[in-house]
Amino acid sequence: MTTSQDPRKPANHSALQSGAPQDTSAEADSTSAIRTLLILGASGDLTGRLLLPGVSRLIAGGRAEGITLVGAGSDDWTPQQWQERVSDAFEQVADNATAEGKAALKAVQTSTTYHKLDVTAPGALAKLLTTVQAPTAIYFALPPAVSQKACEVLRPEDLPAGTRLVMEKPFGSDQASARTLNGALATLVPEDHIHRVDHFLGKSTVFNILGLRFANRLLEPLWNSDNIAKIEIVFDEDLTLENRARYYDKAGALRDMIQSHLLQIMAILAMDVPATLSERDVRDGIAAVLRASSIDPDFSASTRRARYTHGQIGSRQVPDYVDEEGVDPANNTETLAEVEVRVKNWRWAGVPFVLRSGKSLGRARKEAVITYKAVPHLPTGFQGVDSPTRLHIGFGPDTLTLDLDINGPGDPFTLSRVQLQADLAGDELLPYGEVLDGVLHGDPLLSVRGDTAEQCWRIVDPALEAWRDNTVPIEEYPAGSAGPGGWDSSEN
Ligand code: NDP
Repeated sequence: MTTSQDPRKPANHSALQSGAPQDTSAEADSTSAIRTLLILGASGDLTGRLLLPGVSRLIAGGRAEGITLVGAGSDDWTPQQWQERVSDAFEQVADNATAEGKAALKAVQTSTTYHKLDVTAPGALAKLLTTVQAPTAIYFALPPAVSQKACEVLRPEDLPAGTRLVMEKPFGSDQASARTLNGALATLVPEDHIHRVDHFLGKSTVFNILGLRFANRLLEPLWNSDNIAKIEIVFDEDLTLENRARYYDKAGALRDMIQSHLLQIMAILAMDVPATLSERDVRDGIAAVLRASSIDPDFSASTRRARYTHGQIGSRQVPDYVDEEGVDPANNTETLAEVEVRVKNWRWAGVPFVLRSGKSLGRARKEAVITYKAVPHLPTGFQGVDSPTRLHIGFGPDTLTLDLDINGPGDPFTLSRVQLQADLAGDELLPYGEVLDGVLHGDPLLSVRGDTAEQCWRIVDPALEAWRDNTVPIEEYPAGSAGPGGWDSSEN
């Protein structure tokens, strides 16, 4: 017999479509705290480097009370091997944890179990789910094709009520495949129980932007095409391939960074003022921006791509990208991409949003730069700097810098450039801790909604196709440089 309280109750969500967000306020189980965090791909890189450190901070901070951690994967690991992996990650936060935090970490670490299974084998994951305490959050820390297959073999009745599915990026490989995956997920759980992870959407980063924009009368009334000339979102890394050729060489900078992270940040920068900070209002605002956005089809003017050649970053010698281990030159993969997105609505008509990201650059630069238009008339008589007002929002660490022209010291007719700076609040949880916090407490606010995942692909798919056809030549830049010559930005 099944009742509404029965954790084995079959979910029946087939009527829900990814493109049609549900009003979730009436969801009876949406606030049920997760009892089990099941990580599929327990032996993988993501689990070790990012997930377990995130989980450990949540536990130490009392944000994951009563949670049981379960690892699973295709590796033939003993329970001790998994416990050692967990313990290595937990030790790093235990030193600074309170007595309660230490005890909570110890309890999770000693009770954690590991299960060997092929998640793509029909019935295997379903069987494991019968042995753990519901509600369960299933984290798919698996290669994307494996995650997709695992979801396809799951049946709604395999998932106890309250199950949350946590999907990693990339979510699909184009708009069509993202739609197919959304369709498969929609048969399993409601949309607000699907967490498509974008760790750039950490709580502090998102709320720092929303707070800055919407709590300051000085900013929001000017936040439009009347006053803003250009918005750039830059994520330049001084890291190289770092042994990730297997994934990156098939993805490239546009898919890896711009299609997901930078478009989401762009949408938060460009969205209209939400009435509340509820997930529905905020994610509706993000979706409206993305639906209005596109890249001009003259792709040789609206996009650029490049790949690094050998060079030096600090004391590190870096080989040509095509000579990195695991790289296939035939893939013609870009390591630096730049696209100009237009948000075609009243607020942003005519304002370019320039999104750029790349690897092996001389300096890590992670910021959004809002460049204001020049004043309509500078009183005759002023001399010196007359540069546009610029607002820089730095990401990780989150900072705020405002570039202004003011009367400098000495001659009052001479303008000088000054910078007003502030540190924005960070979060000790780390981005993955913030993401998992939302998962464990049933808050999908920071998860990418199904319709926006598809929209992000819709925006970049035509550019990717033009690049495949070689409409846009691939340029080169030495590792450790600022990118190809002529790629000017607000920094110059
Ligand atoms: P890895 O290849 O390091 O790990 C994948 C894990 O999945 C391994 O433990 C692997 O086990 C397991 N696995 C593979 N096939 C199966 C199967 N059929 N059944 C059960 N387990 C299986 O990948 P990553 O950890 O790097 O990435 C995981 C996901 O996270 C990907 O979607 C990636 O795009 C995303 N991601 C990764 C980031 C990172 O920094 N690593 C950053 C952002 C996103 P085995 O070793 O036995 O094959």
